[in-house]
Amino acid sequence: MEKPSSKTKELEFGGRFGTFMLIFLLPATVLYLLLMCKQDDPSLMNFPPPLPTIESLWEAKVFGVFLLWFFFQALFYLLPIGKVVEGLPLSNGRKLQYRINGFYAFVLTTAAIGTLLYFQFELHYLYDHFIQFAVSAAAFSMVLSIYLYIRSLKAPEEDLAPGGNSGYLVYDFFTGHELNPRIGSFDLKYFCELRPGLIGWVVINLAMLLAEMKIHNQSMPSLSMILVNSFQLLYVVDALWNEEAVLTTMDIIHDGFGFMLAFGDLVWVPFVYSLQAFYLVGHPIAISWPVAAAITILNCIGYYIFRSANSQKNNFRRNPADPKLSFIPTATGKGLLVTGWWGFVRHPNYLGDIIMALAWSLPCGFNHILPYFYVIYFICLLVHREARDEHHCKKKYGLAWERYCQRVPYRIFPYIY
Ligand code: NDP
Repeated sequence: MEKPSSKTKELEFGGRFGTFMLIFLLPATVLYLLLMCKQDDPSLMNFPPPLPTIESLWEAKVFGVFLLWFFFQALFYLLPIGKVVEGLPLSNGRKLQYRINGFYAFVLTTAAIGTLLYFQFELHYLYDHFIQFAVSAAAFSMVLSIYLYIRSLKAPEEDLAPGGNSGYLVYDFFTGHELNPRIGSFDLKYFCELRPGLIGWVVINLAMLLAEMKIHNQSMPSLSMILVNSFQLLYVVDALWNEEAVLTTMDIIHDGFGFMLAFGDLVWVPFVYSLQAFYLVGHPIAISWPVAAAITILNCIGYYIFRSANSQKNNFRRNPADPKLSFIPTATGKGLLVTGWWGFVRHPNYLGDIIMALAWSLPCGFNHILPYFYVIYFICLLVHREARDEHHCKKKYGLAWERYCQRVPYRIFPYIY
């Protein structure tokens, strides 16, 4: 249970200045990455790429398609299918209810895309207007963040996020002022976490695969493209299949819903995480079967660590009395798991995720560093996230956390860090 909300004193992400800069820096990074990827030679020597005109970045029809996508995902979320579960207790002891139907939303989306393809709809459109789609999503996420901030001003103190209640407008706007903004039973953060962006990422990858076949006149997608699509499809399907596990993540229990998560969920995830597939359309790479097999094994190892670590923690949080599990008790009543992967390193789920990130970039070969942006960024993100989490856990669990650190000395990478 998070402590009852009080003013946030320790500012993260570089404080007021850092968060102000990030509001501009994050959209600029997405734009530059996509522009770089479109260049014939995307090497660092060709940075910065020429900027397109403002008019060419915006098209009303593209924005309309984006809105339609968002609307349909919202509709799928509202369908009364799938079980309803309770989240972890809030600071006031209350538990929110969440409907688990992300996987159904994915199946319905697959059926809808399949139908469109059957009727010869050109998914290629997504590739042709990729940057315009990213701009539309960014504009939407900015409007959504402004709405979230305005409505959070009326939220009761106990509904505010422990980390986004500094009283500084820009900081709270960025990190998210309200913890679980809802319209009726529609949970905006929970919805955005796993639906429009994550499912959108798979659709974008598929569009890239089809674009590759069309542009290079291939009857089959390249092996590299198949690997990237399959690995990332597995990741997304896994997240949706295990949707309930998102309820014990930092995003849901600690972070408020503001620009950081809105932009992250709706722009960064679908448009940056699909960079390898976007890159492969313009920069094909032929890889051999043995290389493909080795990369697949690496991805499977990463996935195994990631999935089993997340499931172990989730099962423990939901059923702490399981006699098979040993843990360090803490003064809050919650234990710290020391069996399984959580007794190996302190954030084994991050380790698995990073191994997978590497496997997603390797099919793009070694001609350019651009497709490795994801793995480099992801290591930085997770090392920073791990430090944030350590800080929170130290505050929450005090001596018990120190005992855990002594027993499990490595943070993410065994024998390294
Ligand atoms: P975690 O799911 O690891 O959550 C951290 C929390 O877990 C801690 O605050 C603590 O919360 C609890 N915890 C830590 N150690 C223990 C322990 N030994 N025993 C029991 N509970 C423990 O982190 P995230 O929410 O950051 O990540 C969830 C998943 O999402 C990860 O697999 C991560 O790799 C992935 N991820 C992916 C991203 C992407 O962009 N692809 C971005 C961010 C994350 P408490 O004690 O309060 O329960």
